[in-house]
Amino acid sequence: MTDTKDQEEAIIFYCKDCGEIVKTDKCGRRYVYKCRKCGTKNVAFGTPKSIHGFFKLDGDREDENKSEVKMKKKIEGEKEGEEKGEEEKKA
Ligand SMILES: [Zn+2]
Repeated sequence: MTDTKDQEEAIIFYCKDCGEIVKTDKCGRRYVYKCRKCGTKNVAFGTPKSIHGFFKLDGDREDENKSEVKMKKKIEGEKEGEEKGEEEKKA
């Protein structure tokens, strides 16, 4: 028999920008939390079980692949931005 009461009460914070579990500061009266690492409020919170399930944090390899895709997308986005900038200069 395992007592799950402690697990239920333990809340963790997941920063969508950092892509990891982070420490937060409570922001204002509402349930808004600010990431201590990057300073955004793009933070989800819940039990470890729900956070890991929702963001599929289980499996380090999967996580690495995800961040690789994220990086590629980011680089592509930056390239697009540069091209657009050049076009604007020409026009
Ligand atoms: Zn963050």
